[in-house]
Amino acid sequence: MCRNMQKDILRSIPSVNELLESPEISKLTGIYPRQLVVDAIRAVLEDIRQSLTNEKGMSRFDSNQKSLPCEGGVKKIVEAQAIDLSPQKLYHRVQQSLQQKFCGIEHAINATGIILHTGLGRTPLTDEAANQIQNILKSFCTLEIEKLTGRRGIRYHHIEQLVSMITGAESALVVNNNAAAVLLALDTLARGKEVIISRSQLVEIGGSFRMPDVMSKGGAILVEVGTTNKTYLDDYRNAITEHTGLILKVHQSNFKIVGFTETVVLKDLVSLGKERNIPVMYDLGSGALIDLEKFGLPHEPTVQESIKAGVDIVTFSTDKLMGGPQGGIIAGKKKWVDLLKKNPLTRALRVGKLTIAALEATLKLYLEEDLAIKKIPALTMIFAPLEAIEERCKRLISNVTPETKAFMSISTVDGLSEMGGGSLPGEGIPTKLISLYSEKIPAEELAARLRGNTPPIFARIEQGRVLLDMRTVYDDEVDTIVAALEKIFSQGKVN
Ligand SMILES: *Cc1c(COP(=O)(O)O)cnc(C)c1O
Repeated sequence: MCRNMQKDILRSIPSVNELLESPEISKLTGIYPRQLVVDAIRAVLEDIRQSLTNEKGMSRFDSNQKSLPCEGGVKKIVEAQAIDLSPQKLYHRVQQSLQQKFCGIEHAINATGIILHTGLGRTPLTDEAANQIQNILKSFCTLEIEKLTGRRGIRYHHIEQLVSMITGAESALVVNNNAAAVLLALDTLARGKEVIISRSQLVEIGGSFRMPDVMSKGGAILVEVGTTNKTYLDDYRNAITEHTGLILKVHQSNFKIVGFTETVVLKDLVSLGKERNIPVMYDLGSGALIDLEKFGLPHEPTVQESIKAGVDIVTFSTDKLMGGPQGGIIAGKKKWVDLLKKNPLTRALRVGKLTIAALEATLKLYLEEDLAIKKIPALTMIFAPLEAIEERCKRLISNVTPETKAFMSISTVDGLSEMGGGSLPGEGIPTKLISLYSEKIPAEELAARLRGNTPPIFARIEQGRVLLDMRTVYDDEVDTIVAALEKIFSQGKVN
């Protein structure tokens, strides 16, 4: 009897072809390569067969099967009866399997409130940058050619001009990212020589970028001075030898030392460097091009003030506070930047035309500070008024249907956004969050389902609640979040 039931169910499993031609699944062959759809169907069907005949299979198939107090075969049959072989269910599983295999980079909604989120691509680009990429994308462009003479040009020439105009630097160069900028500078200026750095600045940025490691890669010999909390100018002075190649300052971009501290300001390092004829470099990391302090935020060192202090070389990311594509800019004294330009590594670290296009368009906005603040998403997010963020929360809540609200409590709460990307560490920016709590779906599960949405929605979890920070959510993404919640809570009436 039992065995017969099992056989019946096994027999009722549709064939690959049946599924392939079903109206539901045939839609998928329009989206994914046919062979991949076939493979996915096979895998799903195999999984179902396994779960019917295998001891442990069931749990893999459907996590919400009830464990019934009966033994062996009987238990399996009872569970098998619960297996949903409807085309919709199978479609869902095939689609999920395809999505998992095929999901590359895609648009995502950042509701984490971390503005420069490396996992989510750091900063979104401006319309200007996106349009400029679009303009040069599908045809030829003047990447390395002079329009007037027809002669071969230099690919970062315009970037250099713009950086000089904005920061006052004599010269500049752009490479793949700031890590590359630091590596290139060390390799050029300090290979085989000693680099003096304060113990408080041996930073690990994340993603295995550790200052001491980068130094040894750049062939430099690390000379640590001072202590974790206090370093004085004399510490640097006493460490200088005939082998010193560079004095390096690194912005403590992702942490803060508070209390009994002492650091040497850039200006004093520059004077010391001049006196002893040793170049001084500042790895700024985030590299603000506008003074956040003017707008009521804590101070984040700017490129301009470093140049003004007379630094020889300053390096910074172009996709952190600057709000451009991934890249690293090296700016400073012509004498030193020229040396870097001649290093063969520069060729290996060079950026592509898409980066150049987006970088130029982004930098142009900085020629007028107001324009930059108005147009650069990272900056508009930092400066977004609380009322605008609250408005987004209200709209989201009011657009959720009463049926869905019945499954959860949803409210607006106060919280803090973070800059991320190694700027303003420990300085939260007051924000408004959507707080979600459901007795039907635990927070981890709800967050996972939001990530499973198309586009995926990334949220925070705190104290058993899912929090959506509306500072980093675009106006036109609010309804996408609403639709995702509706879908999550309507599926099988929250099975
Ligand atoms: C972020 C950061 C880097 C690395 O920059 P990338 O552009 O991510 O390579 C290096 N130094 C500091 C101080 C940073 O904050």
